[in-house]
Amino acid sequence: MKIAVLPGDGIGPEIVAQAVKVLEVLRADGAKIEMESAPIGGAGYDAAGDPLPDATLKLARAADAVLLGAVGGPQYDTLDRPLRPERGLLRIRKELNLFANLRPALLYPELAGASSLKPEVVSGLDLMIVRELTGDVYFGQPRGIEVRNGERVGFNTMLYSESEVRRVAHVAFGIAMKRGRKLCSVEKANVLECSELWKEVMIEVAKDYPEVALSHMYVDNAAMQLIRAPKQFDTIVTGNIFGDILSDAASMLSGSIGMLPSASLDEHNKGMYEPIHGSAPDIAGRNLANPLATILSVAMMYRYTFADLATADRIENAVKKVIAQGLRTGDIWTEGTQKVSCSEMGDAVVAAL
Ligand code: NAD
Repeated sequence: MKIAVLPGDGIGPEIVAQAVKVLEVLRADGAKIEMESAPIGGAGYDAAGDPLPDATLKLARAADAVLLGAVGGPQYDTLDRPLRPERGLLRIRKELNLFANLRPALLYPELAGASSLKPEVVSGLDLMIVRELTGDVYFGQPRGIEVRNGERVGFNTMLYSESEVRRVAHVAFGIAMKRGRKLCSVEKANVLECSELWKEVMIEVAKDYPEVALSHMYVDNAAMQLIRAPKQFDTIVTGNIFGDILSDAASMLSGSIGMLPSASLDEHNKGMYEPIHGSAPDIAGRNLANPLATILSVAMMYRYTFADLATADRIENAVKKVIAQGLRTGDIWTEGTQKVSCSEMGDAVVAAL
């Protein structure tokens, strides 16, 4: 299993180093893993004048999975747009055709106090949002701003082809099969033809997965239900723009950005795995960052790309153990728990493994 390791910028190298320690434990235990690092984002620009250097893309293409830290930093904010770190990230997702974005929102019982919702509403929360990542109104043509009838109009096109919906549907049903076998498809079929087609295709694909209970919900109601009673959901599948908004709302149910991993998959379950947070320039280089989202991204890599559920469980259980032991980085620290550094947290997970 070849893993391309792309630490990126800011806290990226610090948190990825902890995830690499975890991979090294697995390798010592017999996992056949090869790891190779390359620069991306600001680090790519510094090394090769490009936020996605050719050599980095080549390495990522040849790998079975990509582990990414984060990109971006204030020193790059004045570069021309195509040279900015975030462009490297968007380009690698597009180049690798990573159309299915998986974002779990999971709350560890010990961290219930960190959520902005009441503990009884979020305690035990474990939901997965599958967001289509390469289509919809973000990519549909025509798009633009032009003058019509003497005034400017802005327009975009919400567009999904059957095949685009079908492939993300298969990913979502497959994930629901590995979880609670409940899939909620979120759209706006009462108003949008694009959503009507989305819903029809979901119903067609559901025939291949008779064990999964498929339900449908309008996006406005879904936004309300996520805040009102988020535990009613197991797996949600939705389009690019609805997923963009709902997955950010859902991530905050668990209260701690430093805890949430993500995966972006292609048709063959090749994936890029990264924490949902950014490069946190405010704490970079000080060994303060929470590495757990990155370590949990490695667990997702084992679950979805390597289909090794036992190892995925092993990593997730190690994280649960260090949380239960009361170890906390600054972002999740509360009175009565033990504050640790980024590398101490990594060491604790390694010991728990
Ligand atoms: P951010 O996620 O980097 O930080 C937001 C806040 O959360 C900060 O206070 C930060 O210290 C804290 N934080 C984030 N991750 C943490 C962790 N692991 N442990 C402890 N605290 C953590 O978002 P931002 O400040 O809006 O953006 C900073 C830079 O990151 C920008 O250049 C932005 O473009 C980039 N960014 C990159 C990605 C990505 O690489 N996927 C995502 C979002 C933002």
